[in-house]
Amino acid sequence: ATPMSIMVGVGRAAEKGVLIRKGDALQESSRLDAVILDKTGTITEGKPKLVTFKRLETSQQTLTDDQLLAQLAALEQASEHPLAAALVQAAKEKQLTLPKTATPEILSGQGIKGEIDSQTWLVGNRSLLEAEQVSISPEAEEQAAAMADQGHTCVHLAIKGELVALAGIADPIKEDSAAAIQRLQKAGVRVVMLTGDSQRTAQAVAKQVGISEIFAEVRPDQKADKVRELQDQGLRVGMVGDGINDAPALAQAHVGFAIGTGTDIAIESADLTLMRGSLQGVADAMLISRATVRNIW
Ligand code: ADP
Ligand code: MG
Repeated sequence: ATPMSIMVGVGRAAEKGVLIRKGDALQESSRLDAVILDKTGTITEGKPKLVTFKRLETSQQTLTDDQLLAQLAALEQASEHPLAAALVQAAKEKQLTLPKTATPEILSGQGIKGEIDSQTWLVGNRSLLEAEQVSISPEAEEQAAAMADQGHTCVHLAIKGELVALAGIADPIKEDSAAAIQRLQKAGVRVVMLTGDSQRTAQAVAKQVGISEIFAEVRPDQKADKVRELQDQGLRVGMVGDGINDAPALAQAHVGFAIGTGTDIAIESADLTLMRGSLQGVADAMLISRATVRNIW
C-alpha cells in the first residue's frame, strides 16, 4: 500500500469509529485468519443483571432470601468483578441494607470466600465448589443447567460447605454482535469465543451469535496462551477484548482490538480502538484494510 492509500484507509476507519493506535495495524488487519472474541463486555454488553435467585432445599433455613442476598452482596462489594456489581446492584434495588462484613478473599477466576458469623461463605462458580469440596445435588445441577442453557451465568452460594442458593445473572448480547460475526465469517475469518465463564453458558451465548468454536473456563492468566495456541497452528490471529484480563492476549495477538469503553489497560495493550464498542468495527477494519493493501482508494 502507498502512504497515500494508508492515509485514506486510516481516515475511512476513523469514520467508522475505529482508531488506529499502532502504525502497521491497518495493513496487518487485512491478513487475519482468525479472530478471538472475549465474551463479557465484547460480545455482550458487559452489564450483567441478576434475573433469578433460586433457594435450594438445605438445612440452612434461618435466613430469608433477602437476608441471604444482602449478606452475599455485602461480601461482593469487595470484588471488582462485573458479576459482583450485578449482585450488589440487585440488593440495592431491593433497598436491602448491606451488613458490615470482613473483607473476603478474592479468588481470581472462581469467586470469593468470606466469613460471616464464623461461618464460611463461598460465592462463585463450580470450580470454586469443587476446590472446596462442596457437593451439588441433582436438583441444583438441574437448576444451574437451566440457567446456563439460557446463556446466563450461574453464581453459586455455599455456606458451611453446603450449597444453599443459585443466582442466575444475565448479560444481554449487543444488538449487532451476531451481524458483525456473520460479516467476519463471510470474509473467510475463523471466529472463536474466549471466556472464563462455564462451557455450558458459553455454548448458549455462542449459539445465539453463530459461533461454533469456544475456549471456555479459561483462567485470566491463560487468555494469552489461547491466542498463542492458534498462532502455533500458523494462523494470523486478531483478539478483541475490553477487560484488564484481556490485556496480555491483546498484546500477544497479531492485531489487538480494544472496546473503546473498556479498561485503560486493554486500550493501551491494543493496536486499534473500537470507539463505538461494536464488533462491526472489527469487520470494518478488516475490509478497509484489505482495500488499502490493494491500493484501491
Ligand atoms: P469472565 O469474567 O470472563 O467470566 P473471570 O476469570 O473473571 O472470567 O471469572 C471466571 C468465573 O469465575 C466467572 O464466570 C464466575 O463464574 C466466577 N467469578 C469470578 N469472580 C466472581 C465473583 N466476584 N463473584 C462470583 N463469581 C465470580
Ligand atoms: Mg470482557
